[in-house]
Amino acid sequence: MPPGYHVLLTTDSPKPSFIYKSLKRAGRMGAKSFQDLKAVYDFRCATCGSQEGKPHFLDADKRTQLQQGHMNPLKPLTLTNTIPQCQVCNQVYQDQYVFNEKGRVVAVASVEPVRNADAPIKQRIREYLAGSAETDDHAQ
Ligand SMILES: [Zn+2]
Repeated sequence: MPPGYHVLLTTDSPKPSFIYKSLKRAGRMGAKSFQDLKAVYDFRCATCGSQEGKPHFLDADKRTQLQQGHMNPLKPLTLTNTIPQCQVCNQVYQDQYVFNEKGRVVAVASVEPVRNADAPIKQRIREYLAGSAETDDHAQ
C-alpha cells in the first residue's frame, strides 16, 4: 500500500492509533480512563519518560510498567489526580511528594523527606517555618 493511504478494516471500532492521537490532542481533560490518560502521555512515565513495555531507562533489564501515580497523595486517587508513573518512579517517590501534571515534584506531602534531610537543610526549614508566620511565604 502506498504511503498516505488508509484501508478500512472495520466499521465497528476506530483504529487505536487514531484514538490515541485524538486523546493526545484533547489532553488530560479528554481522558475517561487510566488507559486514556496513558495515551495522553504517549504511554510514557510522566516523571522519567520510560515507555510502557519498553526497557526501563534506569534498568534495561526491566520492562516499564505504568502505574497510577498519585499527584497529590493528600487528595483521593481520582483520574484528575493521577499521572502515569513507571514502577520505579512510583516506588521511589511513594506518597511523600506532590507532583504537577508534567510529573515534576512541586511540594512535599509527608514529613519523611524533612526527617531524612541533612542537618543544614533541617535548620533552613526550621528558620523558614519560624519566619513564615510573620512574613509572606514568597517574600524570599
Ligand atoms: Zn518513571
